[in-house]
Amino acid sequence: MSAVYNFCAGPAMLPKAVMAKASQEFVDWQGMGVSVMEISHRSKEFMALSSEAEASLRKLMDVPDNYRVLFMHGGGRGQFSAVVNNFMGNNGRAKYLVSGQWSKAAAEEAVKLAGADAIDVVDVVSDDNGVKSVVLPSFEGQDDEYRYLHYCPNETVDGIEIFEDIDCPWPVVADMSSNILSRKIDVSRYGLIYAGAQKNIGPSGLAIVIVRDDLLNLPTLSQSSIMDYRLARDNDSMYNTPPTYAWYLAGEVFKWLEQTGGVDAMEQVNTAKAERLYQCIDSLGFYGNKVAAANRSRMNVTFQLADESLNEAFLKEAEASGLVALKGHRIVGGMRASIYNAMPMEGVEALVSFMEDFASRHG
Ligand code: PMP
Repeated sequence: MSAVYNFCAGPAMLPKAVMAKASQEFVDWQGMGVSVMEISHRSKEFMALSSEAEASLRKLMDVPDNYRVLFMHGGGRGQFSAVVNNFMGNNGRAKYLVSGQWSKAAAEEAVKLAGADAIDVVDVVSDDNGVKSVVLPSFEGQDDEYRYLHYCPNETVDGIEIFEDIDCPWPVVADMSSNILSRKIDVSRYGLIYAGAQKNIGPSGLAIVIVRDDLLNLPTLSQSSIMDYRLARDNDSMYNTPPTYAWYLAGEVFKWLEQTGGVDAMEQVNTAKAERLYQCIDSLGFYGNKVAAANRSRMNVTFQLADESLNEAFLKEAEASGLVALKGHRIVGGMRASIYNAMPMEGVEALVSFMEDFASRHG
């Protein structure tokens, strides 16, 4: 079979080398004669795996010592509620920046749990003749009390990324589900970072949380135990049975990242991949992208065909060429190529060649 490149937004493709190793180890891990999926999370072998995975992530992201790394259940949306339940206390308020579908969904969950009066929702997207950009408000001199400010630095559906750091007097909570490990960030600027795993880390269901120690001493609302950060911390993320296979694969992805040069090297490749694709979109006059250059996502490249009646043919022909899952999210339509860490430059080159060819035949 010729190469298939999977542009799905998530669950997304994982590194080929990791998948090959995992398939080899599937029924016999470390010569134990059983799968890693079939052993106790409290066995010494799994405990070694779990702490290695954490150490590897800490190294990749240069996580300071005063931050805890938690491996939790419930994916990205699980954290939408965990953040509220753990941080809001009884009379707390929080600020939510909305830059697209996912930050909007996070704000809606917060309103559901804490009430509309407790959540200050700020739309940060400006629309200039159909071209979207993010305009961050200045928070200087604000003396309102918020338990935290929540935002989503990469909007998976809209293809909008915020590269600027947020400067504000409150702990910053960031949903990095779709851009964690794709570029260098300074963890110390954040109160809490979370990410559903199924884009740059591993299988869906797992969520990674990186949280500053002191925030775990805030008053909490009553909450479900498996979403309690303090319980997760005190039990090394094993208060209940963790998603062990997902944790194993995450560890393998972290090892692969370390071997391929870490986040700096990945950032360079990701920048080159995104530039190549946007350049193709901008240059042919056949495709369009509606995000201002400063906020174009490096992970989720959205584009539209000038003649939308060709959408079906585009997707069908792309698939026949081994370029799969390019359909945009149902809410926004059009196309979307998700090019996370695991997507090699060759995949982007193959897509660009196809797009050029399709444009020349239908233009
Ligand atoms: N946040 C972002 C930025 C996402 O892209 C997604 C999923 N695509 C989620 C949250 C929700 O993740 P999950 O489906 O794991 O709950």
